[in-house]
Amino acid sequence: MKTPITINPDGISVYGCKHIYAPKGQAGEYSVLATNPYRGCGHECRYCYVPLVTKQKRSEFDAGAVPRKGFLEMLERDAKKYQQAGITEQVMLSFTTDPYHPGDTYLTRKTICVLRENGLAFCTLTKGGTRSLRDIDLFRPERDSFASTLTSLNDDFSRKWERGATLPSDRIRALKAFHKRGIFIWVSLEPTIDVKASLEIVAATHTFVDLYKIGRVNYLPITKTTDWRDYTLRMIDLCQSLNVKHYIKKDLQEYLPAGYENPMRTQQHH
Ligand code: SF4
Repeated sequence: MKTPITINPDGISVYGCKHIYAPKGQAGEYSVLATNPYRGCGHECRYCYVPLVTKQKRSEFDAGAVPRKGFLEMLERDAKKYQQAGITEQVMLSFTTDPYHPGDTYLTRKTICVLRENGLAFCTLTKGGTRSLRDIDLFRPERDSFASTLTSLNDDFSRKWERGATLPSDRIRALKAFHKRGIFIWVSLEPTIDVKASLEIVAATHTFVDLYKIGRVNYLPITKTTDWRDYTLRMIDLCQSLNVKHYIKKDLQEYLPAGYENPMRTQQHH
């Protein structure tokens, strides 16, 4: 006999599931559901806050991603419960690691397969660039999406801030390849370390990007010196003039003009 399924008060996650969960706070603005197959990451982003969340030493976190113990088995158990509940939303990989980190990422492919087999859709958010192309055959235009974080178009800037990640040019190659395949793609402009750089990214990529999610940076000295109101207004002007879909994250919403239409959830597939 099947155990009855209980949906949590958030209305989207299943009670008792820890490996497919509903992210909260800033992460919740990105996706209704998420999963994290690994502990750690090898991208060494200087602004990464994840070691605080996972209670790891930064040196251990930066040393590289390792599969979480028993992950696939637990994921499969959770995914079956979601299927039983009739939930088919996108599950995002990942918030506390990167699905296409520099190490062995075959677990990412297996994770996607388990999600698909149990009726769930998925989205990957990565700074792993063209490493992701190995799995492009698994993405379905009518269900799934592909996303990348961009902080600059400048390789030297990226080498300084994200020294283990692929360079912006490689991430853009991946975005274009997914776009060409008919997959919905979006770009995370968070953190915004350099206002001018984030504006340049939109100007340079809007012809193949379906959606931008725009945030700021916290806990860095520039947080105090940047005029975030001016940034928000310039960004929405640019997005409107180019007619591109965008979502301004909560941290910047106080600067939006009254009544500005800014839906947090929009369809992320074609
Ligand atoms: S890619 Fe993401 S998880 Fe990995 S170090 Fe950078 S911010 Fe942290």
